[in-house]
Amino acid sequence: MLREVWSGSIEILRAMWITLKHFFRPPVTNQYPDDRVPVYPRFRARHVLKRYENGLERCIGCSLCAAACPTDCILVIAAENTEENRRSPGERYAEVYEINLLRCIFCGYCAEACPTEAIVLEHDFELSTHNRWDAIITQEELLEPHEPDYILIRDDQVWVEPKWGHLTK
Ligand code: SF4
Ligand code: SF4
Repeated sequence: MLREVWSGSIEILRAMWITLKHFFRPPVTNQYPDDRVPVYPRFRARHVLKRYENGLERCIGCSLCAAACPTDCILVIAAENTEENRRSPGERYAEVYEINLLRCIFCGYCAEACPTEAIVLEHDFELSTHNRWDAIITQEELLEPHEPDYILIRDDQVWVEPKWGHLTK
């Protein structure tokens, strides 16, 4: 009984000490969106479909990304390229390509599986919508270059001391 009271008191004192230690530290809160937090270069957020320099789409409609997706949120419908309508260098291209961001867990498996590096997860994390249908990003949206100026990317090589100053290199 005495031992339990003693160990309980020690735990309470330990918890109080942690509370006291943090009480005198400056707050960690970032005033988002006024105070933007830079993301790491490898941070994964909204997808983008890439093109080659000559304008052709990298996507060849193979559906490997959809097969690799653990949440089944990618829809790919492929079609054959013709000489009159060539959209990718391969035999086929994606006629329909959609991602349902409500189901996406940003695991990056789709990008890993893609043989042509067509689908890439970039840095835009401002993905909230008022309408659930707007969470489905279409091929047209995915093929547009998407580099919003509110995204700050931090230098992966340089450690920036956090504002609250209790993390070290
Ligand atoms: S990031 Fe993951 S969950 Fe999202 S579309 Fe790609 S494979 Fe699917
Ligand atoms: S994005 Fe890549 S993996 Fe997905 S269908 Fe296109 S080429 Fe295939």
